[in-house]
Amino acid sequence: MDQNSTRLSPPAEPRDFGFYVDGKSVPAGERDVFLRNSPGHGCPVTRIPKCTAADLDRAVDAARAAFEDRRWSGLNGQARAAVLLRAGALIRERADEIAYWETLENGKPISQARAEVGGCADMFEYASGLARSLHGDSFNNLGDGMFGLVTREPVGVVGLITPWNFPFLILCERVPYILASGCTIVAKPSEVTSATTLILAGILTEAGLPDGCMNVVTGSGATIGQALLDHPRVDMLSFTGSTAVGRRVVEASGRSNFKKLGLELGGKNPQIVFADADLEDAADGVAFGMAFNTGQCCVSGSRLIVERAVADDVTQMVRDKLARAVVGDPLDEATQIGAITTDAQNSTILGYIEKGKAEGARLVCGGEPVDLGQGQFIAPTVFADVTPEMAIAREEIFGPVLTVLPFDTVDEAITIANDTEYGLAASVWTKNIDKALTVTRRVQAGRFWVNTTLAGGPELPLGGFKQSGWGREAGIYGVEEYTQVKSVHIEIGKRSPWIA
Ligand code: NAD
Repeated sequence: MDQNSTRLSPPAEPRDFGFYVDGKSVPAGERDVFLRNSPGHGCPVTRIPKCTAADLDRAVDAARAAFEDRRWSGLNGQARAAVLLRAGALIRERADEIAYWETLENGKPISQARAEVGGCADMFEYASGLARSLHGDSFNNLGDGMFGLVTREPVGVVGLITPWNFPFLILCERVPYILASGCTIVAKPSEVTSATTLILAGILTEAGLPDGCMNVVTGSGATIGQALLDHPRVDMLSFTGSTAVGRRVVEASGRSNFKKLGLELGGKNPQIVFADADLEDAADGVAFGMAFNTGQCCVSGSRLIVERAVADDVTQMVRDKLARAVVGDPLDEATQIGAITTDAQNSTILGYIEKGKAEGARLVCGGEPVDLGQGQFIAPTVFADVTPEMAIAREEIFGPVLTVLPFDTVDEAITIANDTEYGLAASVWTKNIDKALTVTRRVQAGRFWVNTTLAGGPELPLGGFKQSGWGREAGIYGVEEYTQVKSVHIEIGKRSPWIA
């Protein structure tokens, strides 16, 4: 690894990672491994074990034992908070290393990866406070003979399945909250981006998390992921990924033990721009919202719904902005748009671009791969003259592709925005408070931005309406999600007899 020179480069040899059970890294040994190629460089960067069903059982047993003997949930909030705070500090100390492996496996720009890692440390610091403030309720109004309590208890062993687009960020939007609640974890990262999840497991042990509370099994979704969904000794499953696999999660819960579920799924998110907006800001926000993380972003603002009077102007402004965005080597500090993470995703995006052309949409810019001599890159692409029934306007592309749909009235903008099976996120750009509030109230989305986009932090919850998911992560809601509520009735004094 050449992390310390001014210009970063991929490692000369791929790094071997073990999976993580009961506070220890377990080397691949005789197991098969995934050899991961950097999508930005084309060379091998990591080797990750393909865990077996027996490995998963071992991880669940470790998490189960750690939960049942209360080595974590039995600690007071102060002790749990201290571990989470130390983990946040260790993440900050190792930010360069984490960002390096994140960039190599995912293809995102190194500067972006570093900023995300800083945000992850912040998640741990914020969640440490929640470990101390999480509490229930009391009812002192049940008469002199009765007192009522509502307590919150950790759900138990949580299976955590994460995708490849924000491997560390999505992990850290969940792990500290799950741990703050007192639960224990068996995580299954995406098979193409497992490295930083394994690094986090080591950091948590170093921070003082008791063994068995954070376990990581690595392997494909179809084998290890599915086995985790079906596992009868896992109490809750937090899944982030596609809506298609989300359906399998729901089915498996019904088939196995009715696990409690948290689901964060796909999106086809509108960016509504009114003529009275600061159009310069709006164009910049729209370009950022569609091209950030190469559009491989569940909350990507992939539909520009723009007032007809300014539609051409705003489209040109977005095009001009995108022409100046730097597509390049993800390890280069100047890069703003990195590589497409997987070969399959690269083909999917290029397929949608061809579909857009065939459907009759007008290509404004992009529409083709960018040849940098190595890796896989796609130029940010804008389609105008799009109609709501076109596939590029309806389906989640998960790439740097923007569809432009004009509107004439506030009602029409809202109708187009809601004309989707998804409801993850939405943005509105206007200087008119009435329009901003009307749109915020009536567009169905779990996250909403007014005159900004993709803003976030540990305080505000994440989650979707409609087929974008169930439940919420982060904020106080995020920790409550991993608890269940118990109501306690306490009789005071002598019972009035049922049988005299
Ligand atoms: P994916 O659904 O293919 O995979 C997500 C995870 O599920 C991976 O770890 C994968 O190995 C695992 N998996 C796959 N098949 C499985 C099965 N049968 N059983 C159990 N696990 C299985 O998604 P992806 O391609 O990694 O990520 C892209 C998708 O994720 C997009 O649809 C995107 O919108 C969504 N996403 C949503 C959010 C959110 O917060 N709402 C965040 C990021 C990504």
